[in-house]
Formats: sequence, C-alpha cells, structure tokens
Amino acid sequence: MPLTTPRVRAALVAAASAGLIAAALPAPEPLGIGDPLFPHLGNPGYDVLTYDISLTYSGDNRAPLDALTKIQARATHRLERINLDFAHGTVQAVEVDGRPAEFALAGEDLVVAPARPVEAGRALTIAVTHTSDPSAEKAVGGWVRTADGLAMANQADAAHRVFPCNDHPADKALFTFRVTAPKDLTAVANGQWIGRAHAGASTTWVYRGLHPMATELAQVSIGRSAVIRRTGPRGLPLRDVVPAADRKRMEPWLRKTPGHVQWMEQKVGRYPFDTYGVLIADAATGFELETQTLSLFERPLFTHPKLPEWYVESVMVHELAHHWFGNSVTPRTWSDLWLNEGHATWYEALYAEETARRPLEHRMRDAYTASDRWRAAGGPPAAPRPPAAGQKISLFRPVVYDGSALVLYALRQEIGKGLFEALQRRWVTEHAHGTAGTSDFVRLASEVAGRDLTGFLHAWLYDRKTPPMPGHPDWRSKAPGQEQAPAAKPAKGTA
Ligand SMILES: [Zn+2]
Repeated sequence: MPLTTPRVRAALVAAASAGLIAAALPAPEPLGIGDPLFPHLGNPGYDVLTYDISLTYSGDNRAPLDALTKIQARATHRLERINLDFAHGTVQAVEVDGRPAEFALAGEDLVVAPARPVEAGRALTIAVTHTSDPSAEKAVGGWVRTADGLAMANQADAAHRVFPCNDHPADKALFTFRVTAPKDLTAVANGQWIGRAHAGASTTWVYRGLHPMATELAQVSIGRSAVIRRTGPRGLPLRDVVPAADRKRMEPWLRKTPGHVQWMEQKVGRYPFDTYGVLIADAATGFELETQTLSLFERPLFTHPKLPEWYVESVMVHELAHHWFGNSVTPRTWSDLWLNEGHATWYEALYAEETARRPLEHRMRDAYTASDRWRAAGGPPAAPRPPAAGQKISLFRPVVYDGSALVLYALRQEIGKGLFEALQRRWVTEHAHGTAGTSDFVRLASEVAGRDLTGFLHAWLYDRKTPPMPGHPDWRSKAPGQEQAPAAKPAKGTA
C-alpha cells in the first residue's frame, strides 16, 4: 500500500472499464493498524463514520444470511486500495461511491480496489453485497446460534466474521441495522427502535444507535422473543429481550436493572447511552457480553439452581458497568483491555460488597495471592501476552479481570477513596464516547492526585512481579510453582 507502479495503474484502469476482474488485482495483502495483539485487525487510511447493515434471515440459523453493508467513511490518506476486515461470508459485489469496484479476499481482509483512487480527506461510501455465515465454529465468535435464532458476540475480533468493517475499537462509528426475518420472529439490535415494516411473510426491523460504537459491541438478536419495556432512573428507557416462553420466569431478574443503573449512576455519574437492557439468549455461551445498550447474557446464568442471587446480580452489574468503561470510553488498543475489565470487575465486586456483604478486601487479598501466577501466565495487566504463532488469542484471562481490579484497589489504597472516586468520574466524563488508553489513565490519575503516579502505576501495570500492596504489607503473592494456595476465583464467563 499504496500502489504506485504504472503496471498496477494500467491494470486498475483496464479493470474499471472492463468490469469486475478480481484476477487483475496485484496480490492483495491483509493489513492492520498496528495493534500488537491483533496485527491484522483494523485497517489504515480511513475513518468509518457510519455503518448501515441490512441482514435477511431465512429462519434457519445454520444458513448464511443475505446481507448488504454500506459504509460511509473519510479517507485519511490517498487510497488506491481499501482494506476491510471480513471473513465467513461470500462477497458478491462491492461498490465504491456507486461504482463497481474490484475486490479480493486476503486472509481475513476484503481488499477493494476502487475504480479511481480516493484522495485524502474525501468522503467515500462502500457498499458490500455479501452473505454472513452463522455456521462457523462457536469458538471463533461472531454469530451465536440460539435455540430459537441468533445473537451476536463479537468481542474481541469477530465482528468481521459477521459483516465487513474496520474491526478495531479505535474506529468507532454510528450503526443502523435493518433486519428482515420471518414475521413470527422478533429482531432487536443496538440502539433505538426506528420502525418495522411487514411485506408478505417477512418483517423488517430497523434500529439505530445515537452514539458511536465499536464493532465488537454490535448486537443483533433474532428469535421468538418478548421485548419488555420499563423505565429506569431519570426516565431512562429500558428494554429487555428474553425468550418469549421465559417472560414471567425472568421478570424477577429484569426488574433489578433500574436499581443497578441507579447504583452505578451514584458511583460514576449519568448512564452514557439513551437506552439499556438485558438480552437473554437461549444458548450456553459460557460468557456474558456488554453489547452496547443491550447486554448479552446466557440463559443458564438465570436458571442455574446453584448460582446465588448476589453472584448473578454482580454479573449483571459487571456488564452494565462496561457501558461507562469499555463502551463509552473505548480502549485505544487491545492491550488497554484492563481498563475495561478491571473497572467492570471493580464495580461487580463493589456491588457485592455493598449489597451482599462480600468484602472487596477479601476478594482483593485472594487476587493478590494469585497475581504473580496470573502475570506469569497471561502477562502483566497492561501488556497482555501475545498469542503463540498460529493460535487464536484468548485475551480474557484472570489477569485482566481480578488481576486488573487489583491495580485499581492498589491505586485507591495509595491515593485514598475520595480522590479515587473523583478519578473514576473524571475518566468517564472526559473521555465519554471517545477512545482512551493506559497512558491517558496514568496521566489523569496523576492530575487528580496532584502528584506523579507514573512510577507507581507502571509497576502495577507492567511489572512481572506484583508490587507491594499499600496498606497491606503482609499480603504475599505466590510465585508460579507454588499454586497450592487456593486460587482467587476469576469471574468466570464474564466478558
Ligand atoms: Zn467484562
């Protein structure tokens, strides 16, 4: 990138006049924006402003959906090619600014050669006609097949296995979803319900988010669902989506959300989006996910006879807390994931302390004991270990959950509760609906505390060994090989 040789230009000009000849493209290659953990995720040279994604569902959740993804973007560099992230579907056609464009797949990139190069600073539209295949292996992410349809779980790197996109949280955009499904099914997506139109045996549902969203947080649910509306604090519209047959059974859980929102607002300030809700998917995913404005939960979380109520509620609060930490304030790179999970785990644990007498200090002491081992296994909180060659990464290790909440606990011990709470509020206010990274957090913490915390936080965030805990000189962390101590239980299955 970019292509400059006369041979390539000639080929592109010829292709533009001759129509689609994918073979004329010189070897396309997958690109990325330099995230060390996901080298091919995201793409350079443009900023996506909006996605408008149309999906047509047949009623069979193993069959590919027909899809049209329209992207409005602004070129930040001159583009002779445009790379999008995309896999697990067939691409039928691509248009750039209304003109047919050549395309080829390279790795998990869809490489598009517009008929004419796009100049830096220019707006462009890309329209991709494609399929979206939900029958790929579950472990890969993207579509989740439920008992009655589909849901979505794209974190961290799977949105592009559903729709073509610039699949990195550093490039947030506004989303519209138009979902066509058999008329006996209900489709719900992130954001506000815009409208619904019936045509023959199908219904098309339209949803639009009012705030920027990372691709990893997209949600589309299709199934035999009940949509339950109620009002939260300050009149906040709440919308839950549950299997229709479970409506009564789930109500005792669903009615807890207004209290959860109120609790979080008391801690960090106003909820940053225009709606919230719980999506209960009839599937055993093994995780929950903070999909924007409509958090995804697996049904077994609410039906398992052995899970205590305080635990289930704290998981609900975890996903809600992500709407401040992760969804509104989005990590700049995936190494900043600790900012998402550390904070969500923090409020999960704090809620359990305040409402169910589960002392935060006990949980943090257990985390401290395990911390050296977690760091050895997964890397320190802000420098997660990259994947081994050829292996799919699992970033969601204990070190980014309780291991990172432990960093926040150390910070609170160091600067005191008042300054710590002021920092939390300023973080979600000053970076609302933006992108921020570890260095931003360290800078703001120092500013709020009125002293340079770089050395203190860097040791906690980047060192192989867990630093001494302020106020608890007796706490010890077990080195690898000394695991006989009871391990602190990570919030299993909480994304
Ligand atoms: Zn989480």
